[in-house]
This record gives sequence, structure tokens and C-alpha cells, in this order.
Amino acid sequence: MELRILGCSGGEADGERLTGLLINEQVAIDAGSITGALTVEEQKRIRHVFLSHSHLDHICTLPFFTKNIFGHNAEPVEIHALPETLDVLRRHLFNDELWPDFSVIPNPDDPTIRYTEVVPEQGYTVCGVTFTPIRVNHLVPCVGYKVDDGKDAFIFTSDTCHTDRIWEVANATPNLRLLITEASFPNEQDWLAVASKHLTPRMLGEELKKLTRNVPVAIYHLTPGDKPQMLPQLRALGDPRLRMLEQNEQFAW
Ligand SMILES: [Zn+2]
Ligand SMILES: [Zn+2]
Repeated sequence: MELRILGCSGGEADGERLTGLLINEQVAIDAGSITGALTVEEQKRIRHVFLSHSHLDHICTLPFFTKNIFGHNAEPVEIHALPETLDVLRRHLFNDELWPDFSVIPNPDDPTIRYTEVVPEQGYTVCGVTFTPIRVNHLVPCVGYKVDDGKDAFIFTSDTCHTDRIWEVANATPNLRLLITEASFPNEQDWLAVASKHLTPRMLGEELKKLTRNVPVAIYHLTPGDKPQMLPQLRALGDPRLRMLEQNEQFAW
């Protein structure tokens, strides 16, 4: 399995792209940086997009992506997400006001994108890889994903505050090679992390006690302006499994 990190920042700035992962060139998880990180030819190879939740930093390139692929694919690109997330896309994004409704363009029988609801804990196998959504604890309905090709697996928790189930799943995945999770705000902004259902480094430290596996834990979603404050706080956790997730990084298992 190949995993390419298109973007992993909690905010957008020069050199900092929003959340997006690409698996085996054909499947994306989240769409914060599809159009900013990939050539049009690379974008046309994407057949499926699994979304974790409806927040803008995880979906914002979908409109420009649909425009780029329009007319170039024999089959619609499938957008997999929780029903609540798809409802937000229908009502607030592809609503013919903010952006054209590409789920009926060029026509309802042969659209550019097709919506597919996911059910937590149920595996969806596409392009030879199984994506299993696991519910996490965020401000809106949100899932992380276990991604498993039968040989190797990784887990992406997406945005989350304190949660249990995805750590249980990680502990029960023998072929787990990598876990990607978040830290969004510095320790001094505990109140903000709790209010917006994210983690600070200190809160992350409590979560890591739930992970019994010795696998690399790569941190994403730092607020760009808070990095100088947060990096020493993450190091201070003293957990040898911890490292930062890097934009453009590629993993191959
Ligand atoms: Zn979010
Ligand atoms: Zn986010």
C-alpha cells in the first residue's frame, strides 16, 4: 500500500495545506488539498473520496476537484461519508448556489460524483483496500478510518477530542503500521480544545495511554501559528512513538 500525505495542517498558509491523504493514487481520505497538491492528471485517477466529517478544512477542494474531473471519467467518483456529512454537502455546498450540483451534472443517471453513505464499523473495499469508518468525538458527526489491504494497515483518527473506540480498534489490528492522530491547540488553550472538540498535546498524552501498540504515531492538524509553542509540548510527552506528520510525505508498505 502507498500512502501520500497531500496536506496535514490545521490551517492554511503558504506551504501549509489542509487535510488530505491519498492511497494507491486512486482513493482520497478528506479533500482539504486535492487540487492544491495534485496535477489534473493525478486528480483524474481518483475514483473514491472517503470523508471524515463536514468541516470546511476537510472538504474545501471538492468543488474545484469536481470541475477538473467533469467530463473526463466514464464512472462517477464516489464520495463516501456519514449521512450527516453528505446532507451538509447537499444542502450547503453542491446546492446550485455555492457550487453547481455535480451529483446530477451532466445528468442524474451519469453524474460527475455519486454520494455513498457509510455505516461506522462496516468495511468498504474499493481498489483492493478496505476502509472501515470508526466513530470519534468531534463537534459534528465524524469518523476516523482504518485502512487495510490485508497485509498492512494504518489508522487515521481525523479530528477528535477524548475518545475510546478507535484506540480499541488500533489495539486489535495486528498488522497496524502507522497511526495518524491530531493535536490542534497548545496546552494553554485547553478550554478551546474542549469547546471545539480537539486535543492539546497534554490531552493527546492521555489518549496515548490507551494505545498499547508500539507503532509510529504521527501528529497532524497543528494550527500553523501555534507550532513554535506546540512542538516542545509534544516533545515533552516523552513518548518514543510520537513524530510529526509531514506534508508530501510518502509511506509504502
Ligand atoms: Zn473538524
Ligand atoms: Zn480539521
